[in-house]
Amino acid sequence: MERTFIMVKPDGVQRNIVGDVVTRFEKKGFQLVGAKLMNVSEDLAKEHYKEHKEKPFFGELVDFITSSPVFAMVWEGENAVTVARKMLGKTNPAEAEVGTIRGDYGLQVAKNVVHGSDSNESATREISLFFNESELVNYTKLINDWVYEG
Ligand code: GDP
Ligand code: MG
Repeated sequence: MERTFIMVKPDGVQRNIVGDVVTRFEKKGFQLVGAKLMNVSEDLAKEHYKEHKEKPFFGELVDFITSSPVFAMVWEGENAVTVARKMLGKTNPAEAEVGTIRGDYGLQVAKNVVHGSDSNESATREISLFFNESELVNYTKLINDWVYEG
């Protein structure tokens, strides 16, 4: 089983899309491992997005992600990283397929509603940036027998 880090960004929280994002991941069959509403500090924002620090939009991105609360989550399931990225849709909501979260709820790349880890390495890094081990819950859901084969 894989884990991935999913975050409803400030625009998604302000626009009341948190519930829909949670519902989509629940209905897909993923299991919630941790979740919290939080403010992102400037240090955390810069660390989280450090791969983009040379990009022209970096300052704008850090300002945006620290501007208002985010809803941070860890979801677990088979191929969680890849499947979650498909559920999010392309980075630019204008190009994201209808039916994806960004495709259904966004119009511009700077306000694309959600973040999702792009690899297992990113997921491990991002989960440990946003969550303490004690905030992640291990448990068994009997419904998984109806989600997975054998
Ligand atoms: P992601 O992995 O799909 O989120 O996309 P990237 O890792 O390429 O970019 C990280 C985030 O930076 C995106 O989700 C956008 O919110 C933001 N971003 C990307 N390109 C631009 C841009 O041209 N302008 C602004 N303002 N933000 C951008
Ligand atoms: Mg990325």
